[in-house]
Amino acid sequence: MNPFTNDPAARVTAIGEVGLIELIKAWLGPTTPKAPQGIGDDCAVLRPYPNGVLATTDGVVFGHHFDENATPEAAGEKLLKRNLSDIAAMGGSPRDALITLLLGPDVSLKFVEGFYRGLRACAEQNNICLAGGDITSTAPHFFAAYATLLGETTNPITRVGGQAGDSLWVTGTLGGSLLGHHLTFEPRISEGLFLSAYPGIKSLIDLTDGMAKDCHALFSPGIEAVFDISQIPISPAAYTQSQHTNKTPLEHAFCDGEDYELLFVLDSKADEVNLITQWKNAFKTPLNRIGWLSAISIPESPAELRRLDTGAPLPAWRGYEHLKNVIHTLQK
Ligand SMILES: [Mg+2]
Repeated sequence: MNPFTNDPAARVTAIGEVGLIELIKAWLGPTTPKAPQGIGDDCAVLRPYPNGVLATTDGVVFGHHFDENATPEAAGEKLLKRNLSDIAAMGGSPRDALITLLLGPDVSLKFVEGFYRGLRACAEQNNICLAGGDITSTAPHFFAAYATLLGETTNPITRVGGQAGDSLWVTGTLGGSLLGHHLTFEPRISEGLFLSAYPGIKSLIDLTDGMAKDCHALFSPGIEAVFDISQIPISPAAYTQSQHTNKTPLEHAFCDGEDYELLFVLDSKADEVNLITQWKNAFKTPLNRIGWLSAISIPESPAELRRLDTGAPLPAWRGYEHLKNVIHTLQK
């Protein structure tokens, strides 16, 4: 849906900030409790978290993270789900969120209402309290929203700690997200919680900018990754998309952004068979052992990603690099 309208009576400016906040409270229902726990005071007063606090922030911008082919509900859900994926990548559970809207004067109330319907549905599904936020006016023809999501964990799994010999695993399937997965994905919260408790999980990240780029966050200096290409879970959408691009399905799997899957490192001494058994008992989500970390084998070579079958460096594939990729995601 197009977020903008030419009808002055249907715009957010017809009711102003105070009126919009009242509507938002009504739209959110029980997902925003009475102030000061919910919307309505200078700050939200949150109940203390018994365990460690996780904090993340991420946004959606119209024309960049979604376009008019998306429903406002899907855009609202995507905002919270992007943040949920980061909480999953630390092995945490979500708790409270603050939502900031950046609205041009021509944004339609109908769009904002649908956006909040999506936020509410996702919040209800994940037990998130929408505790507050802010509304800022922008130039016309602009819609963006940011969420700050707080979560909790007893055992945060960071990106560091992988060593030569450790294995590399990924959830779900990869590539072709632009064909729909970037809106419909399920953040891997339960899977992240499972991994945070599984012995031998050393490091964990969610894949947002493409595995070819994101996996580097798991390497220490002197380490490279060897990928068993036959085990890379290429999504059906990556095959479909490759029919319309000059890229192979494998390149889509490595380089497309917005997979929102979990990539993790398992200690070389950990019980892999038990991991697979427990995983299959708990989840339908696919899990694949896609390679391992290795000490850099050819010091003069700059390659940090290699193929197992040939030993050759993977091509100079990159994921999505913010501030550098000129063509934005939805126009790729
Ligand atoms: Mg992340």
